[in-house]
Order: sequence, then C-alpha cells, then structure tokens
Amino acid sequence: MVTAITVFVILIAGCQPSEDGKEAFVIHTVNGPIEAGEIGFVLSHEHLMSNFGLPIEETDTYDELALYRQVIPYVKHIHELGVQTIFDYTADYFGRRVDILKAIADSSGVQIVTNTGIYGAADNRYIPEYAFMESPGELAARWIEEFENGIDGTGIRPGFMKLAFDTGEPSEIDKKLFEAGVITHLQTGLTIAVHTGANIEAVQAQLEILDRYDVSPEAWIWTHANWHDDTDYLIHVASKGGWISLDGVRDDNTDEYISRLIAFRDAGLLNKVLLSHDGDAWPMGDEIRPFHAIMTHLVPALRENGFTDEELYELFTKNPWEAYSIRIRKTK
Ligand SMILES: [Zn+2]
Repeated sequence: MVTAITVFVILIAGCQPSEDGKEAFVIHTVNGPIEAGEIGFVLSHEHLMSNFGLPIEETDTYDELALYRQVIPYVKHIHELGVQTIFDYTADYFGRRVDILKAIADSSGVQIVTNTGIYGAADNRYIPEYAFMESPGELAARWIEEFENGIDGTGIRPGFMKLAFDTGEPSEIDKKLFEAGVITHLQTGLTIAVHTGANIEAVQAQLEILDRYDVSPEAWIWTHANWHDDTDYLIHVASKGGWISLDGVRDDNTDEYISRLIAFRDAGLLNKVLLSHDGDAWPMGDEIRPFHAIMTHLVPALRENGFTDEELYELFTKNPWEAYSIRIRKTK
C-alpha cells in the first residue's frame, strides 16, 4: 500500500477540484473545511458508530468509554492502511453524534465527514413525528440551518445529506424527504446520498424529482447500488450523471467487484463510481463490521487486473472529491 499511497499524494497535488476552475470547492469535515489536496484516500460510506436497531428515542446515547476503546484503535489501523478521509453515514435519529465523531477524528488522525437529513427506510422507524407534518420547505430549513450554523450547537457542519427509500413503491414520506433534500441542495450545494438499494422505482422517482427542480443527477448518490444485480442498469444511470455507490466490499466478494469495475471501465464510466464497505466500528456496541477489505483485498486485486495508478486515484480520491465537494449542480 505504501506505493499506492505515494502515487495518490503525487496525483492529487495537480487536482483541479472545480468544474469551471473559478472556485476552490471544499468538503466539510468535523474539523472544518478541507480542499482537494487534503482529501487523500477515501472510504465513501462507513459508520464509525450507530444505534441502528434501537428505538428512536434511545439512539443518541452511547457507552462512550467502551466505544472509544473499540473504535479508536480500529480507525487508527485503517489510517495506517492509508485511509485519510471517511464519510460517516449514520444519520440523525439512528445514532449520529458529531461530538463523538470529532473525538474519533482527533484521536485517530482520520478526517471524518458527517451528514444532515432523515433516514426514511426501515419502515419509517427513524423518521421523527414532525417530518410527517412539515412541508418539504420546512424540512429543508432544518437541514439548511445545520449547514449554516452547525449541528447540535457544536458548530460542526454536515458535509452531505443522507436520505433513504424503503423497498416497494416509493412512499409519500420518502418522496417528500427527497424533495426536501433537493431544496436543501439548491440552497447549500450539499450532495444528496440516498439509501436506495435495488429499488429501481425509487431510482426513477428520484431522477424525476431532480429533473423537476432542474438539479443534475451529479448532485445525487445512488447508495447501495451494488444491491442491484444488473450492472448495465447501473451504467445507464451513471451515464446520466448519477453517482453509483458500490458500498458492500468484503474480503470474500472481490471477484464480483472486479467484474463490475471492469464493466464500468469498459463503458468509460469509472469516473462515476464510489467504493466502500458500509462497515460499522460500533454497531450498537457489537463486534466491528470491518471496513478494511478495500485496502487488503480489492486494491491489490485491481492492480492484478491491470487497473492503473491513475484509475485507482480516480476511484478512491478524485471521484469522492467530485461527488462530495460542495457546489450547486443545476441543469440549467
Ligand atoms: Zn450504511
């Protein structure tokens, strides 16, 4: 990995983050904004901790000392494997605690990015009551407030939005939350990452709402796209500009990822892929769901399959930068 990391550092020194070259876009970490040269090797969808599974009113409390004892050594290990930045996908109402994320970042040396938004999957279990009453604009105002003034009085600002769709026909509440996300994007430039999985109807509903607001699919991440088997359809959505998050890497599914990535490369769309594990270093206090197979298994396998340093840099540094750097992406 030392060779790989050295190459990433050299390549990113010449990175031009903005699409028009006029403005240096940034990413908000829990320790403030960073620029392109500072993002390094990225894991684009993990959980430093979560209380997914507990009742909604209990999800923001942790046994903090036990958590730090388990999480910090693991995240230090991840850092030693070459990871500089992790996007944390634990949303408000199922365990987001930005003060704890900051402590983990400070102790491990890894840059961590947190999110705003409401997670609409899991049969609405982590949607607070007010979200059913408020309009998309009122919901967006809450998330814009976090973007402008920080989360829970900490001054820590979100670096993206995390939303979700249940399986089946897209529900009114999931569509409303997404519409709030699009309104928030137009005000803040935050990217909208949406747990969607294999729900093609939900993909189409989201693309329609983006279109209605003249927001480019480039502002949107299809999260858990790897749950959908048909790589050709993923490539089709990528060709429209959507970000395809293949976020289920494990140490026993390298072959599947290699074949999907070869298909994206053959289609000339490797520049739309985000890779991660959807791991969790503190899943309700249980054993770590690991997030190191990319460094130990996938990167070496990519090299064996002829992926170049430039392509690895694209997958793990340039694409996450492009996907998450804060800017409004309109179609007209
Ligand atoms: Zn996740």
